[in-house]
Amino acid sequence: MRFILITIFLIISGSATAQQGNEALRSAAFLSVRATGGDQVHTIMELYGLADFACNTAVFLKLNGIKSEHTHLTAGKTYKMPIQSMKYNGSSIRSTTGIDDWKTAVQIRDYNHALLRKGVRDDDFTESRDLWIPWHIINCDKNGKTKKSTPDTKTPEAKPGKKVTPATAYGGEPTTSDNNRVFPIFGDKYAKTPLISSKLKGKIFYLVSGHGGPDPGARGKRAGITLCEDEYAYDVTLRLLRYLLSHGATAYMIVRDPNDGIRDQNYLKCDNDEVVWGNKTVPQNQKARLGQRTDIINALTEAHNKRGEEDQTVVEIHVDSRGKSTETDVFFYYRPNDEASLNLALHMHQIFIEKYNQKRGPSRRYSGTVTSRDLYTLRETNTHKAVYVELGNIQNDWDQQRIVLKNNRQAVANWIGQALSKK
Ligand SMILES: [Zn+2]
Repeated sequence: MRFILITIFLIISGSATAQQGNEALRSAAFLSVRATGGDQVHTIMELYGLADFACNTAVFLKLNGIKSEHTHLTAGKTYKMPIQSMKYNGSSIRSTTGIDDWKTAVQIRDYNHALLRKGVRDDDFTESRDLWIPWHIINCDKNGKTKKSTPDTKTPEAKPGKKVTPATAYGGEPTTSDNNRVFPIFGDKYAKTPLISSKLKGKIFYLVSGHGGPDPGARGKRAGITLCEDEYAYDVTLRLLRYLLSHGATAYMIVRDPNDGIRDQNYLKCDNDEVVWGNKTVPQNQKARLGQRTDIINALTEAHNKRGEEDQTVVEIHVDSRGKSTETDVFFYYRPNDEASLNLALHMHQIFIEKYNQKRGPSRRYSGTVTSRDLYTLRETNTHKAVYVELGNIQNDWDQQRIVLKNNRQAVANWIGQALSKK
């Protein structure tokens, strides 16, 4: 089976789709495929049922910076295909893509099923929810001419009508236009993120909020309302991202919610539309979910290492779940047998001790802990440092205040940010 990978840095969407279809289609990622020995441009076009439309080949050449369609592809190298991959909503291709035309939807369906029959893909999009949309069906006329000649670069979170700048492959969180420091992921209220200092310039951070997508994580109850771990971990992580970006860091929000920016409400609505960097669907299976995230991080880590940017850190944030009466202060896990990770976790711990002594006074000592733990993301990532933060016990009334009150969410994010700013 040919190796298919949906790579993180291919967030290029054909603005030709902007007029047709919805936001998700406009920002859908392009598929990447690893070439095998003997592959040429036209053979790979053939295999993916794209060869009949010259526009597909034109886009392939453009996406991969290749001059001629007679070029031999390099075995083992990944190439971007003029095929967008997006999350199928389980009900219809038309509502998934925002394209009303019945015939177009049938064409897309048939294309996906044809590749399945051919063995080019091994999953049925209705099950895997991974819908492939070939360029020609939406963007080319019947003579195989692209209605708009070449694709533009675009980032996933672009709001309709909001012009977005190209997300450089390793530039971290994208802005809406060059250096305007407007980050759509934070939502309108917090998008504008002024540069406060450059103390984190050259430092790379991968922020992982726990769970997400089909997995809400642990759930607690407060005043009859369900608190979902993934929503609160997401909001604290998003606030941490903003802290790091405001100090000049390069930071990646690995789990991403297309329509929840930073939220100030106490009760954050549980939903399951989170995706991961590159607009990829979050798998149901836990191992696959964790593997997907670490693969993304490791690919970026490798790229930044190649650029000599080795100061790279993973921070994963969760909310723990224990017996209702158990109060649990923020505590830390670090990558086993990794001194740099231990030192970082100890430093975070120290900051929390100081902050809580100020906030709580001697009467209520901070009791958070630092321990090594063989957790998947800590073990499987290759960054210089990796720590895992548990924000408290989602079942406990007292601890719930730490996540329900926005100022507390902000305080925790700031403290973790300050610890990460240590020289
Ligand atoms: Zn968790």
